[in-house]
Amino acid sequence: MKNYKVGIIGATGMVGQRFATLLENHPWFTVTALAASKRSAGKTYKECVESRWAMTTPIPKAMEDMIILDAANVEEVASKVDFVFCAVDMPKDQIRELEEAYAKAECPVVSNNSAHRHTPDVPMVIPEINADHIKIIDSQRKRLGTKKGFVAVKSNCSLQSYVPAVHPLRELGCNKVLACTYQAISGAGKTFERWPEMVDNLIPYIGGEEEKSEKEPLKIWGHIEGDQIVDTDDIAITSQCLRVPVSDGHTAAVFVSFDGEVPSEEKIIETWENYKGRAQELELPSAPKQFLHYFTEPDQPQIKTARTLEHGMAISIGRLRPDTQYDMKFVCMSHNTLRGAAGGAVLLAELLCAEGYIEN
Ligand code: NAP
Repeated sequence: MKNYKVGIIGATGMVGQRFATLLENHPWFTVTALAASKRSAGKTYKECVESRWAMTTPIPKAMEDMIILDAANVEEVASKVDFVFCAVDMPKDQIRELEEAYAKAECPVVSNNSAHRHTPDVPMVIPEINADHIKIIDSQRKRLGTKKGFVAVKSNCSLQSYVPAVHPLRELGCNKVLACTYQAISGAGKTFERWPEMVDNLIPYIGGEEEKSEKEPLKIWGHIEGDQIVDTDDIAITSQCLRVPVSDGHTAAVFVSFDGEVPSEEKIIETWENYKGRAQELELPSAPKQFLHYFTEPDQPQIKTARTLEHGMAISIGRLRPDTQYDMKFVCMSHNTLRGAAGGAVLLAELLCAEGYIEN
């Protein structure tokens, strides 16, 4: 039976709360340290989050009376855990410094932050897609001079709506993608109470999101060359990202073209339904049994069905049909705060434990 002591850096924030909730009854992970800024340090978790608890389930009982540590006291936090999850709202250069300080204290970091996504020896992993990238950790450890410590990150939540569906199509020759994303307000850390302008509204701009949606997949589909991950250059992606009045769940309308013969609709659906990644092979606790689900009804998937499918960790796809400009088009959906954020990071941590990169 695996049992790891886990810390949450940024435990008081929106993503930190989600980690606390997901880890409450986790079969492998026990939360032994909660950390945040100096403003929270010394107070109990309950005192810090009671007035800003944003989850639908209560504050985990076992964490209510835990004393928040100052995340800057790296040695103290690291001494209490086998690894940490990190989700902090700080300038990017400070996040990079903080995460490397934990790694250098021999404490692995599984990060929700974007600061290290393009560091060439930091793996950015969707466990069903590029689990093999965790091998780059050996090179990162050499650079940092560590035996156990390293940083691994999850990708942006927007692309996790469509990259999983496109991934198996690459084997069938998919080399061109146009993706329009329709993103929930929780992706901006908001609720309708806290963002009343979003009720009955749509905003056609999410700062930096289109760049991330086009660039991050190239690293995910990249390969290890020497001591770095090199982006792929065999697929072209363009995207538009819109904010829509939905609480949780990102949608993508996707158009794809293929190099050579266009596969039939039956072949594509069969490819999706049979796809298994490393997370399924290892039967990781947070992995969906089936990663990609195809819905045949013309009015499915809807965000309400997609949100609850396999505890918010599977991808819902529907409306596959030929297109006049591209070869095929379809829609897909994923839960942005579960699969796209904290849930994806927990799954990544499970992969790193199962593959021996995190030890207890
Ligand atoms: P948040 O609700 O504002 O929480 C920020 C957390 O960072 C709090 O725990 C805060 O502690 C801590 N913090 C702030 N300054 C700190 C410092 N100097 N030292 C240590 N801890 C510090 O932010 P969030 O929405 O959870 O986002 C966290 C990270 O996830 C960010 O990098 C964000 O870009 C990313 N992200 C969030 C979402 C989302 O859906 N919310 C989606 C994608 C990515 P105090 O309570 O003590 O201030």
